[in-house]
Amino acid sequence: MTVDDGVRTLEIELASLAEDLTTPLWRECVLCFANRMIVQFGCDSTLRWARRWRTARAPQATALERRLGRLGAYCDCEIYTNAFDVTVETVRDPDTGAECWPEHVNGCDGVRAGSTQPCSLWAPRTSRPWW
Ligand SMILES: [Zn+2]
Ligand SMILES: [Zn+2]
Repeated sequence: MTVDDGVRTLEIELASLAEDLTTPLWRECVLCFANRMIVQFGCDSTLRWARRWRTARAPQATALERRLGRLGAYCDCEIYTNAFDVTVETVRDPDTGAECWPEHVNGCDGVRAGSTQPCSLWAPRTSRPWW
């Protein structure tokens, strides 16, 4: 095996690792997934994580991005600043000062397969029904 082959193998492994990291967990709702992705990878000013969730979990829910846009969410981070808020008291990480889930929250509460509803950790900021 040459050095070149070694590099190529590494790149392929990294690519499949990235794929795993950005795949929604089983029954993870769109909001928990996008939130998790923004924390790790940031927002690129599009709804890429919401779209990625939809492609993986609810490909038939083609109106998802449009519905988010109606709530003022035109990119992933705007979902949280404009459209939805958490329903539990968050805590501050003592080291980084970052907003964190409290200890009793271990990730998404779970939703029915194919459902674009958020789990119980999220509530819309507006009283307008959007689903
Ligand atoms: Zn954004
Ligand atoms: Zn969730």
